[in-house]
Amino acid sequence: MDFTLSSQGMVMINNISQLHSYRESISPTQKVGFVPTMGFLHAGHLSLVDSSVKENDKTIVSIFVNPTQFGRGEDFTSYPRDTKADIAMLLDHGVDAVFIPLAEEIYPPDYRTFVEISDLSEKYCGASRPGHFRGVATIVCKLLNLIHPHFMYMGEKDFQQCLVLEQMCRDLHLPTTIKRCPIVREEDGLALSSRNTYLSAQQRGYATCLYQSLLLAKELVKNGVRDTEALVESMRQLIVNNQGVVDYIVFVDERNLAEQVSVDEHSRVLMAVRVGSTRLIDNMRMG
Ligand code: AMP
Repeated sequence: MDFTLSSQGMVMINNISQLHSYRESISPTQKVGFVPTMGFLHAGHLSLVDSSVKENDKTIVSIFVNPTQFGRGEDFTSYPRDTKADIAMLLDHGVDAVFIPLAEEIYPPDYRTFVEISDLSEKYCGASRPGHFRGVATIVCKLLNLIHPHFMYMGEKDFQQCLVLEQMCRDLHLPTTIKRCPIVREEDGLALSSRNTYLSAQQRGYATCLYQSLLLAKELVKNGVRDTEALVESMRQLIVNNQGVVDYIVFVDERNLAEQVSVDEHSRVLMAVRVGSTRLIDNMRMG
C-alpha cells in the first residue's frame, strides 16, 4: 500500500496518490466523514472531529492553508501554523487519517479551474473579501472529489460558508451531505478562531463585544423589538464603545441569507468586526 501509517495508527497522507490508495482501502460499506481545516486546531475544530468520529466508520481531516481564499494584503503568509500540535490533537481524538497536501500538487502552475457560487458568495463576507468564497468553494470541491466522503462537517461559526457550500453540493450533484455543528465559544463568549491568536491582551478583552452585541440583540428581540435597523444600531453602538470597527452587521433569513427588515422565526444575525487589525466574525439565531 502506498500510504504511511503513523506509529500510533493514524494514517498520514501527504500526496494525492497516497490519498487514492487510502480511500480505496476503505470498504464501500463503511461511512466516511470528512473535516476540512486550515490547521492551528482548537476546540471548535475538534467538536467537528468528534461528531465525525462518533457518526462514521472512518474520519479524514485535511489541513491546508488554502492560498486561493486569501485576498491580496490578507494574512496568508502570517496565518498561524502548528502541524505537530495539530497531529497530536487529531491522534488524541481518534481520527483515522490526516491529509496534508502540498500547495504545488493542489495548484500546479497550469491550474485553471475555479468554482463560483453566484449571489450567496457575493455579499456580507464575500463583499468584504472579494474572491474568498471562490477560493473556499474551489478547494472544498477538489477535496470532496478526492475524498468522496459521505458527510462533511462544518462549523456554524462560518455560517455564510455553510450555505455557500451546501448550495455548491446541490448544484454540482456532489454526493456529500454537509453536517453543521454549533459554534464553540470561550468562557466569555468569544467564538474560538485560529485568528484570535493575533489579539493583544487588551484587544482580547474588547473582542467579547461581538458576543455581547449578539446577546443584546437577542434580549431586545425577546422584549419585542422587530425592526432590524434599530437592532443593528444598538449592536453597532455597543461595538463602537468597545473599540470595534464594524465591517457589517446584517439580519438575514437563515435559509437563504436574504437580508431582513423585520425579525421573524427564521432570523439570524451575521457580523464581521475588526478589533485592531484582526477581523472577527460571529453570528446567532434570533428567531
Ligand atoms: P478553518 O480552519 O478556520 O478553515 O475552520 C475549519 C472548520 O472549523 C470550519 O468548518 C469552521 O466553521 C469550523 N470552526 C472554526 N471555528 C469554530 C468554532 N469556534 N466553532 C465551531 N466550528 C468552528
